[in-house]
Amino acid sequence: MGAGAPDERALSLPPIPLARPDVGEAEAEAARRVLLSGWLAQGPQVAAFEAEFAAHVGAAQAVAVCNATAALELVLHALGLGPGDEVVTVSHSFIATANAVRRTGALPVFADIESGGFNIDPASVAAAIGPRTRAVLAVHQMGMPCDLTALARISEAHGLPLIEDAACAAGSEVLSDGRWRRIGRPRGLAACFSLHPRKLLTTGEGGMITTADEALAKRLRRLRTHGADLDAAARRHVGVVEERYLEPGFNMRMTDVQAAIGRVQLARLPQMVARRRELARDYAGRLGAAAPDVGLPREPAWARSNWQSFCVTLPEGVGQGAARIALAARGVASRRGIMCAHREPAYPPGTWACAPGRGRCDCAGPRCTRLGRSERAQDRSLLLPLYNQMTEADLDRVTEALVAACRS
Ligand SMILES: *Cc1c(COP(=O)(O)O)cnc(C)c1O
Repeated sequence: MGAGAPDERALSLPPIPLARPDVGEAEAEAARRVLLSGWLAQGPQVAAFEAEFAAHVGAAQAVAVCNATAALELVLHALGLGPGDEVVTVSHSFIATANAVRRTGALPVFADIESGGFNIDPASVAAAIGPRTRAVLAVHQMGMPCDLTALARISEAHGLPLIEDAACAAGSEVLSDGRWRRIGRPRGLAACFSLHPRKLLTTGEGGMITTADEALAKRLRRLRTHGADLDAAARRHVGVVEERYLEPGFNMRMTDVQAAIGRVQLARLPQMVARRRELARDYAGRLGAAAPDVGLPREPAWARSNWQSFCVTLPEGVGQGAARIALAARGVASRRGIMCAHREPAYPPGTWACAPGRGRCDCAGPRCTRLGRSERAQDRSLLLPLYNQMTEADLDRVTEALVAACRS
């Protein structure tokens, strides 16, 4: 056996998954009550979930939808974007971010990420803004808040709406005017959350949009249900009245079953975030001691992550694929760093542009020299297992496996 071979003990232990939803009896009971209530689709539970979510993050309005991709599409659609328009965003994100822009017909213009982190670089955003730019779409990557203060300043200076892809960021916080504020009390026009099981707060599938703009919220509620001026729950209460369809819309509704689960999850969110912060601290302590050449995620002084994911950077000379195989051999799941949309077959040249280039990207093939930090992050980083039920022993096992993976 070589130095990198796992020992017998590691092989006999149950595998450690990358993530695991934290859903229990209380959520099951809430879903059961709705299932037996006679009202399953969007109704009173969705309305209550929206009110509670808005209050939790400190937003005037919250609009529930079927997932975060739909949330992004709906907000971008409401801005009236179309062919010839550009939206500045990142390539280094789950592909839904860029796809939402393309669905409107607008061109995604990719800013690079910051050095030493995985979030959008405000300087790169400033360089990417041009005469066709209609919005800035910033991502709180893996739950780590991006620099909203700088991004809001740049967006405001150009008169552009700032939209937050907060898919991963339920429970994350930023320091603003000397106070910690939850992501979702939107710094810009709107923030879009995902409630997919891979995120902290889950309803199976689900999304939530928060905004301070009452008129926008009203329009989003209409657009999510075919553009109708009255939804089914409202019609039930007002007796004999026919709805009107004011504009072409979508069916992007959340069900009451999901909302009931979400309400329980939301009440538990502060505990879940506290647990993640504890785990992230423990990870950092263990890895800092045992594997000092592994790059740890950095949390700026003005940010508090919800630690949706724990993403490390591999030491020079340690291959990502080899490291993942060595971890898997020890029963430890992992994932490559966050993808880059511009390197996928769905994004051939001409379907996107990069900063600070204007118009069509002139980079050849799937590599873009202006997105070097994004590409390096995808190639050199690794997501380690992180979920609320992890034990000290699990953290030890992951640490040992990573040390061994770096040595082999
Ligand atoms: C998960 C995720 C999405 C998509 O969320 P869905 O609810 O699955 O549509 C969008 N953006 C980012 C950054 C994500 O991580």
